[in-house]
Amino acid sequence: MKAEIISIGSELTSGAKLDTNSQWLSTELSEIGIPVHFHSTMADDRQTMLEVFQTAVRRSDIVLVTGGLGPTLDDLTRELIAELTGTELVLDEASLQFIQDLFEKRGRVMADRNRIQAMFPAGSEVLQNPVGTAPGVWMEIPRAGRAPSLLAAMPGVPSEMKIMFKEQVLPRLPGGQRVIRRRSIHCFGEGESNIEAMLGDLTARNRNPEVGITASSATISLRIAAHGASIEECDHMIAETQSLVSEKLGTLIFGEDDHTLEAVVVGMLRARGQAITTVEAGTRGLLAQMLSTAPGADSCFLGGVVLNASPSVVISLGDDGGAVDATNSDAGSMSLVSAEETLEMAQNARRRFESDFALAISPFTEPSVPGEPATSFIALAGEHVNEVHEHRILVDPAIARPRAAKGALNLLRRHLLESEA
Ligand code: AMP
Ligand code: MG
Repeated sequence: MKAEIISIGSELTSGAKLDTNSQWLSTELSEIGIPVHFHSTMADDRQTMLEVFQTAVRRSDIVLVTGGLGPTLDDLTRELIAELTGTELVLDEASLQFIQDLFEKRGRVMADRNRIQAMFPAGSEVLQNPVGTAPGVWMEIPRAGRAPSLLAAMPGVPSEMKIMFKEQVLPRLPGGQRVIRRRSIHCFGEGESNIEAMLGDLTARNRNPEVGITASSATISLRIAAHGASIEECDHMIAETQSLVSEKLGTLIFGEDDHTLEAVVVGMLRARGQAITTVEAGTRGLLAQMLSTAPGADSCFLGGVVLNASPSVVISLGDDGGAVDATNSDAGSMSLVSAEETLEMAQNARRRFESDFALAISPFTEPSVPGEPATSFIALAGEHVNEVHEHRILVDPAIARPRAAKGALNLLRRHLLESEA
C-alpha cells in the first residue's frame, strides 16, 4: 500500500505560499500505517496536472490531492479528474443546493460560475465540505489487473482540507479504522543518548508500541504510540510499555503528557503545604517565571529575586547588608560567585521570605579559556537541606537558561522525593 500526495496551486510553486498540506497529510497517513512515497507540488497548469495525475494513479494505491477545487478558471482539479478517467462532469443537485443555501445564509447571491463546484466526474462520490463551498471528490480509479487507485481531491484551504480528510476521507481508507493511542513520558536529569542507552531495545524500530525520544530544552520526552484494533487494546499495551520504561528510568521521570516540571514541583509543594522562593542571576528570571505561571503556584511560590547577570552586580540579601560583590571574587575561580556564595544566596532568600525552601542560581560566567565550559551554581536551601551543584554550560546561553532553571526545579523535586521516602 503506497500513498502519494499532490498539492496544486501556482501560489505554492511560485514561493508565495508554503505547501503545508502535504506535511499534515503525510503525518496523518503515517499514523494509520500508510507510507507516503511521493509529494508533488505543481502550478495550476492543465498539462502538468494531467501528467502528474496519470503517473500518480499508476504508481500509487492512494492519491490525495489538495487545491484547485475553487470556482475560478484556474481551478482545474475536477475537470482533470474527469479527463483522466474518461468521464463527463455531471451536476449533483444536492451539492448545488448546499452551495446555494450557503450563499443565502451569508446574504450573498451565488455567482453562476460556482455551479462548477457542484459538478462531479461520473462515477465519483461527493466529499462534503461542512465549512466551505467546495465539496471534494472521491473516486476509485480502475487499473488493469490491479486493485483500483483510490483518489481523494480536497480543498486547498488547510482548515477545510483537515476536516474533510478526518470526516470523509479517513473512514474510506483501508486501515483507516485502526486505532492509535499515544502517551508521552517526560524525564529530566540525563541527556538524550544516555536515556536511549538506558532504554535498551525499547526504542527499537518496528516495536509496537513504538517508543520515540525527543529533547526540548533539556526535557527528554519518550513518545509511546500503540497501534491496535481497539482503544482498550492500545491502552493496555501502553501501560505495559510505560511500566517497563519506569523500571529503567525510575525517578528521572517527572511526569506524562501535559505535565511540566514546574507544575509537578508546585503540585508536590502544595501537597505538603510548603512554600518556595527563588533568587537567580544567570537565568534572567526564568525560574521565577516558570514557577509563578504553574497552575496552583499562588499558594506556594512566595516570590523571587531576579539579579542582573553582569559581572558588576552586587548580590546582597543578607540581613546585615553583607554583600557578595561578584567583582571581588577569587581571581583564580572561573565563577564570579562561588558555590558557597550561591548557597548563601539561597539561605538568605529563604530567611528573608520566610519560606520552606529557596533555590538560587548564580550568574553564568564566561569561560576563562575559550572553548572550555562556563559554569554556574545551583543551590537549594531548606530546613533539612543545604545543597549546591555546579552546572556546566556547554551551549548557547539561550539554551543554557532553561536548562539551569529546570536543573534547579529538578534539584528540589529530587529532594522532595527523597524526603518522602
Ligand atoms: P484552492 O483550493 O486551490 O483555491 O486554495 C485556496 C487557498 O488555500 C490558497 O490560496 C492557499 O492559500 C491555500 N492552500 C492551497 N494549497 C495549499 C497547501 N498545499 N498548503 C497550504 N495552503 C494551501
Ligand atoms: Mg488554487
